[in-house]
Amino acid sequence: MISEIEELYQEVILDHNKSPRNFGILAGATSKAEGYNPLCGDRLTLYVKMDGDVIRDIRFQGSGCAISVASASMMTAYLKGKTKAEAQKIFERFHRMVTTGTNGDAEELESLAAFSGVSRFPVRIKCASLSWHTLKAALEKKKEMVSTE
Ligand code: ZN
Repeated sequence: MISEIEELYQEVILDHNKSPRNFGILAGATSKAEGYNPLCGDRLTLYVKMDGDVIRDIRFQGSGCAISVASASMMTAYLKGKTKAEAQKIFERFHRMVTTGTNGDAEELESLAAFSGVSRFPVRIKCASLSWHTLKAALEKKKEMVSTE
């Protein structure tokens, strides 16, 4: 049985998949990283423009399933203006939420709580977390491609 709140979350995810926010190349990006989820075929390139310690702008390109595209879209919208340290903390929370379904994390994560249901679908966890692993690589300026495998 799907609860009302879960239906709402699905609508948010479908909306972001249909019209992804922050989609495209970012001119003047200070770092970029590529991510690939071979299990599902999701691919993305993430562009980040740092201003000191603050994420001034962030965009992505790529293609994949609805969960992966919506996750990248919502992540970029959520992280704009956050510091690197804040982004890392949010990454940890998000990762814990999608792997264990912790409710406390969902409350803290506001809009990103849309992905809390993903924890019940192990195959989808990698789709939801691909953009986050790629973000981590971009922030740490890692050169090699991120793979969820
Ligand atoms: Zn996927």
